[in-house]
Amino acid sequence: MPYRAPVKDIRFILDHVVGFAEVAATPRFSSATPDLTEAILAEAGRISTDVLAPLNRAGDLNPARLENGAVVSSPGYAEGYRAIAEGGWVGMAASPEHGGMGLPIALALSVDEMMSGACLALQLKPLLSKGQIEALEHHGSDALKALYLPKLTSGEWSGTMNLTEPHAGTDVGSLRSKAVPKGDGTYAVSGQKIFITWGDSDLVSNVCHLVLARLPDGVPGTKGISLFMVPKFLPDAAGNPGARNSLRVVSLEHKLGIHGSPTCVMQFEDATGWLVGEPHNGMAAMFTMMNNARLSVAAQGVGVAEAALQHALAYAEGRRQGVTPVSQDGAIIEHADVRRMLAAMRAEVFAARSIALSCAVAIDMATATGAADWKARAAFLTPIAKAHCTDIACEVAHQGVQVHGGMGFIEETGAAQFLRDARILPIYEGTNGIQAMDLVGRKMADGGEVAFRLIDEVQRGAEAARAKLPDLAGDVWAAAEALREATEALVAMGLNDRFAGAVAYLRAFARVLGGQAHLKAALADAGREALARVMIRRLLPEHGALLAQVREGAAGLYEVGPDDLAA
Ligand SMILES: Cc1cc2nc3c(=O)[nH]c(=O)nc-3n(C[C@H](O)[C@H](O)[C@H](O)COP(=O)(O)OP(=O)(O)OC[C@H]3O[C@@H](n4cnc5c(N)ncnc54)[C@H](O)[C@@H]3O)c2cc1C
Repeated sequence: MPYRAPVKDIRFILDHVVGFAEVAATPRFSSATPDLTEAILAEAGRISTDVLAPLNRAGDLNPARLENGAVVSSPGYAEGYRAIAEGGWVGMAASPEHGGMGLPIALALSVDEMMSGACLALQLKPLLSKGQIEALEHHGSDALKALYLPKLTSGEWSGTMNLTEPHAGTDVGSLRSKAVPKGDGTYAVSGQKIFITWGDSDLVSNVCHLVLARLPDGVPGTKGISLFMVPKFLPDAAGNPGARNSLRVVSLEHKLGIHGSPTCVMQFEDATGWLVGEPHNGMAAMFTMMNNARLSVAAQGVGVAEAALQHALAYAEGRRQGVTPVSQDGAIIEHADVRRMLAAMRAEVFAARSIALSCAVAIDMATATGAADWKARAAFLTPIAKAHCTDIACEVAHQGVQVHGGMGFIEETGAAQFLRDARILPIYEGTNGIQAMDLVGRKMADGGEVAFRLIDEVQRGAEAARAKLPDLAGDVWAAAEALREATEALVAMGLNDRFAGAVAYLRAFARVLGGQAHLKAALADAGREALARVMIRRLLPEHGALLAQVREGAAGLYEVGPDDLAA
C-alpha cells in the first residue's frame, strides 16, 4: 500500500491540539500564516507521497555500498535528495541570513515526519544537516557560518555528527580522538569514529563532519572535549570543495534496517579541522545539534508508525477470513481483535504526533519570546518526545506485522521493513533509557517544577472538558492526579532510585499527555471522540502499572543478582 502523507491530521493537531496559532501570532514567526502553513504541508506531503515513498523499498533491497572508499547511494536516492534540497526543505527552519526560510520548528518537524514516513533512510541525511546548521548558527565563528551555512542550507553540502567511538558510546566522555593545534588557526584531528550516519555521500559535493575530539590540554571526561568542523574536501579560497582532507570511510555496517542509510566507520588521520565554539566546551555545542536531532528522531518515529499503520489498514480491509458477529463480509478489519490493534495504532500515532508537535511549539515559543518557562518546557518535553515516539514506532510497526498474520513475516509484503527500520530509533541519539534518565535527573533538578506545571495544565483542561465529556475528562484528570502524586514521590528519591523508575515514569507522563491531546481533539471535533475513547479508556489506564514501578526504586532490582539472571 503506497504511503500517503497525513497532511490533514497534522494540520488538525497544529490548529486544535498544540496551539500553533500562538507561534504564528509572534512577530518572529508572523510569516507562518494559515495559507503558508497549508501550502507547505501540502507540498511536503506531495513530495513525500509521490517522490520519496517510492524509494523506500529500493533502499531496503539495494543498500548503500562502499566502492573504492566512496559511498554509492541506493537507486533513486539522487533524485529524491535533489527534490528535498531544491525544494528548500533542508533550510526551512534555518536563519534567512544564510539562505534559510526562518520558519517555525513545528512546521519543519511536520515535514520531517512526512518525509521519514515516506523514506526514513534518505530523510536521515537532511536531518543531520539541519542539526549541524543549528549547531553552527549558535556556536560557529562568523567565518565558519559564512562559509558553511549557505551550502548546508541549500543542501549542496551535507552534515554529519561524529561522537561515537568503539569504546565510547553512551559514555561520550571516554572518547580518545585528538585534536592538535597546527599553529595556523586549524587543528589536526585524529581518531576513529563508528556508526557515522551518511559519513560519506555521492549526493552532495562536500560532506561536513562535526567531530568531537580532545585538545592536548583537555581534561579527561566530557569537560575536556572540543568540537571541530572537519570537511571531506577543504574549501578553497572561493569556498568551493578543494583538496581532499585526510579522512576516509573504513567500512559500512550491515544493519537490521535503514539499509539505504550508509552507517560508516570513519578514520581521521591528522585531518584539518576548525574549532567550533570554545575550546573544551564541545559538548555544549554538540548538545545543540543533539537536541535538534532528538526531536527530529521523535518525528521519525511518528512517521514510520504512520506508514506502518497505513500499510496494515490497507491489508486488513482487503484480507478476508471467516465472518464476524458484526459482518458477513469477512474482511479481517471486522474482527474485534484486529479492530483493537488498528484502533490502538491510530490512537498511539495521534498521541505521539501531538507530543512531538507540542515540544516543537514550546521550542518555537522559547525562540520567539525568550521566556524561561517555554525553554524549560521544551527541555522537559524533548526526552519524552524522543523516547515515547520512537517506542511507539516499534510497537505500532510490531502490531502492523501482527495484523498481516503470516504475510507480515514475509519480506515482500513490506510490513517487516517498518519494524526493522524503526528498531534503531529507540537506540540512536541517546538510547531511550538515557532519555528517561535525563528526564528524571537533569530535567527535574528543579524539584519537578515543569512537571507540576504540565500536570496542572492537563487538569485545568480536563476540568473545562467535564461538561461535554464527563467520563473522558474525569479519567484524564484522575490519571494526572496519580502522576502528580508519583512525581512528588519521585522528586523525594535519590538519583539511582529515580533512574530505576525513569522509563516507566516517562511513559506514564506520555500516557497522560496523550490523554490530554485526545481529549482536546474530541472537544474540537466530535468525530474524534471514538478514537479519544480508545486512548483514554484502553491505553491511558496503563499509567497505574507504570507509576507502581516508579515507586519501587532501585533496591529490588539489585537484589536480582547475576546468578539469578543466569539460567
Ligand atoms: C544505525 C546507527 C546510526 C548511528 N548514527 C550515529 C551518528 O551519526 N553519529 C554518532 O556519533 N553515533 C551514531 N550512532 C551511535 C548511537 O548513537 C549509539 O549506538 C548509542 O548512543 C548507544 O551507544 P552504544 O551503542 O555504545 O551502546 P552502550 O553505550 O554500550 O549502551 C548499551 C546499553 O547500556 C545502556 N547504558 C549505557 N550507559 C548507561 C548509563 N550510564 N546508564 C544506564 N544505562 C546505560 C544503554 O541504554 C544501552 O541499553 C548510530 C548507531 C547506529 C546503530
